[in-house]
Amino acid sequence: MDSLSIRNTFLDFFVEHGHRRYESASLIPQDPTVLLTIAGMLPFKPWFMGDATPPTPRATSYQKCARTNDIENVGHTTRHLTFFEMLGNFSFGDYFKREAIRWAWALSVEHYRLDPERIWVTVYEDDDEAEQLWLAETDIPAARIQRLGAEDNYWWTHAAGPGGPNTELYYDRGEAYGHAGGPAVDDERYLEFYNLVFMQHELDDAGNVLGQLPALNVDTGLGLERMAVLLQGVDNVFETDLFAPLLARAGELSGTAYGEDAERDVSLRVIAEHARTSAFLIADGVLPSKEGRGYVLRRLMRRAVRHGQLLGMDIGSSGQQLLLPMVEQVIEQMRPSYPDLERQRSLITRVAGAEETDFGARIRQGLERVDQAITSARSTGDDAPAFPGEVAFELHDTFGFPIDLTAEIAADAGLSLDRGEFDALMQQQRERARAAAKKGSGGIPAETYREAAAQVGTTDFLGYRGLTAEAEL
Ligand code: ATP
Ligand code: MG
Ligand code: MG
Ligand code: MG
Repeated sequence: MDSLSIRNTFLDFFVEHGHRRYESASLIPQDPTVLLTIAGMLPFKPWFMGDATPPTPRATSYQKCARTNDIENVGHTTRHLTFFEMLGNFSFGDYFKREAIRWAWALSVEHYRLDPERIWVTVYEDDDEAEQLWLAETDIPAARIQRLGAEDNYWWTHAAGPGGPNTELYYDRGEAYGHAGGPAVDDERYLEFYNLVFMQHELDDAGNVLGQLPALNVDTGLGLERMAVLLQGVDNVFETDLFAPLLARAGELSGTAYGEDAERDVSLRVIAEHARTSAFLIADGVLPSKEGRGYVLRRLMRRAVRHGQLLGMDIGSSGQQLLLPMVEQVIEQMRPSYPDLERQRSLITRVAGAEETDFGARIRQGLERVDQAITSARSTGDDAPAFPGEVAFELHDTFGFPIDLTAEIAADAGLSLDRGEFDALMQQQRERARAAAKKGSGGIPAETYREAAAQVGTTDFLGYRGLTAEAEL
């Protein structure tokens, strides 16, 4: 089943069960408590909270999502992306656990035709009701239901808002993928594909339950790319129809064949994945900057450039290009579902091109500085050598290395990074800059992008909203 059919199968199923269909909202959420749209429920949050009344009590949607907490998983696990599509069915004070569980099972087994004997579920340790309903409403035996604690099976936004226990569906991909014993033991062999949240509590920003929500809600998410892994019989999200052409393009540009070397494969996946996320972020109005969403974008693009470098590319100065042709490929491939990509083509390519030229010109020297620092840290004979915060600051200031990228490179070399010293130096610099009323160096100044955006000048461009939001962060 191709990814388009996976999406339509989901939406059609829930429309047939009385849900109203919604198109994807922007990656820039209306909700000020989160940086990016991290889940399909976010556009509906006022309805869940009882702050507004939905036109119908059942909804289904496909939603573009971006998650920064998964950046360093990308390329290394078979299942994590920083940008993915979440398919969801939602109940606003209408149906609750029974229907959500029954429909999740019917969809998985009858429509997606997953082998019912390989499905496992987890429930929250205190949620007897959910376990009883799994046993009563589906064919799943008690032996394939596991209970997990709050960390895994209690959902909330980590800010004041709704929360509640959840139940997750997993698929056993077999021995070749890892250890037996269910998802509690191995979350790569048992691939989580669908998550049902039973929103019943209102929480404060520390996670304390303040009380019951005015109505019992259901919020679910099924990962399109993960379902594609299961239905297309491939090993990981990068080999699905959604990614294979991007991976191939990254291979062409860097002269690297996929599937020959594990480390180089990681780099190819990172390049393909981060280019995809970057294109979508820019299309929704995010521009590279030092903070907030803009920092996320910059970090992704620079991480991709670093992986191009690891594959032996010389990006920037010598004219080799990676990000620019990659985002073009993303637009080609994804525009049938996301026409905004085509509308923002000129902005996306300009931003990607400018960022890689700027950072590409500096990264080689920066990496030399990194190597020196690693060598000298190791030569101290210390058991746990540290990467000096001072060098991290210099890398940031002179060579445009996002701190998280430096931390990652240091960690790859077995060094921890002194973040406290880095933060102190950053603070001093900010104070100096404020005193001198001049800007610090952080790569291409925001005005350049603002000009580029103004020249593009389409009516539905959201960049200015993005810039305002950034100033508030
Ligand atoms: P995992 O435990 O594998 O990190 P999760 O529990 O964090 O996943 P949820 O927050 O429950 O994921 O999101 C709902 C669904 O969205 C998941 O069941 C999965 O199918 C999909 N999903 C979540 N995170 C990602 C990601 N980083 N890349 C691709 N799909 C994802
Ligand atoms: Mg996760
Ligand atoms: Mg999980
Ligand atoms: Mg989950």
